[in-house]
Amino acid sequence: MNVPLVAASNYRPGGDRYYGRTDVSETIEAFEELLGGLEDGPAVAFSSGMAAVAAVLSLVPVGGEIALPGDCYQGVTQAVAAGAGAGRWRARVVPTSAVDEWRGAIDQCDLVWLESPTNPLLEVLDLDVLCTPRPGRRALIAVDNTFATPLAQRPLELGADLVVHSATKFIGGHSDLLAGAVVARDLALAGSLREHRALAGSVPGVLEAFLALRGARTLALRLGRGQESATVLADRLAGSPWVTRVRYPGRSDHATAEAAQRQLAGPGALLSFDTIGGVDEVETFLSALRVVTVATSLGGVESTAERRAALAGQEHLPPTLVRLSVGCEHVEDLWDDMVQAAATAFTTHG
Ligand SMILES: *Cc1c(COP(=O)(O)O)cnc(C)c1O
Repeated sequence: MNVPLVAASNYRPGGDRYYGRTDVSETIEAFEELLGGLEDGPAVAFSSGMAAVAAVLSLVPVGGEIALPGDCYQGVTQAVAAGAGAGRWRARVVPTSAVDEWRGAIDQCDLVWLESPTNPLLEVLDLDVLCTPRPGRRALIAVDNTFATPLAQRPLELGADLVVHSATKFIGGHSDLLAGAVVARDLALAGSLREHRALAGSVPGVLEAFLALRGARTLALRLGRGQESATVLADRLAGSPWVTRVRYPGRSDHATAEAAQRQLAGPGALLSFDTIGGVDEVETFLSALRVVTVATSLGGVESTAERRAALAGQEHLPPTLVRLSVGCEHVEDLWDDMVQAAATAFTTHG
């Protein structure tokens, strides 16, 4: 029933493998086959999501231009800014819903980086419109599909060139591995990414590939459960006096509800909310949580919450915004936990 965990860095002559950095083991290949099957393209696995990001960025020629959304995974924002600061390329930040600006970027830039839903505002970009092939398109279009997963959206089908995953999140699903992947629209692009991986040395560990395969088996169950609970929690939070705003793609009051409805097969297991009071009250709320774990990262079986504005480069966020990754706990345990923490933190506000 299981793919063998083949740990090997070196090979005897006579087989079809030479060295583990250039010819990955069959455990890693099995993970690539699985993700490639889900996204419908050749997949290349990496040692982390950011290693996958670095591989895509390596495709940009020196002096080229990269467009990326204003709300974006903070590691990507930092990596693109660092390259721009070093004179490696130019960076263009585009507001998530500015379709005409995105079109301009697609015609003028070398790489257009799309993330949808975005982290952590959960805005849904119009991938239908942006990825559709049309004359004048110049840029490679990469879509970070970590939040949606291939179960909710498959960007290659819409016309994207590259799909990027942090398998550390929903695909692995148990907060016990770091891994990433890029799925390419064709073998030539996948070949360039493999070449980069061999020279950068960003091959995933074989145990990580094994664990990612194990995690992926329950992706649909975990995501289904998380999204069911997230739907309940988003509505209850929206009706709570200590919450000023809920951002959840499944709610009709969401900023990009129409695109979410049209594009995503499910609203997902992530939501963000802003609270009354200030940073001190939210921090009190977070430290009073006992079922929800206050930690970074997302997509695990355990629910995690984090005040994202505390991170470097996230100054565009409301200071009280809490990002909640809804895991597999019982929804009433999660809700009771948030209610008791709110009672501790927001009492003076009624
Ligand atoms: C976590 C994350 C990454 C980076 O992945 P790592 O596995 O942490 O390197 C990239 N994009 C998104 C959307 C993420 O959430």
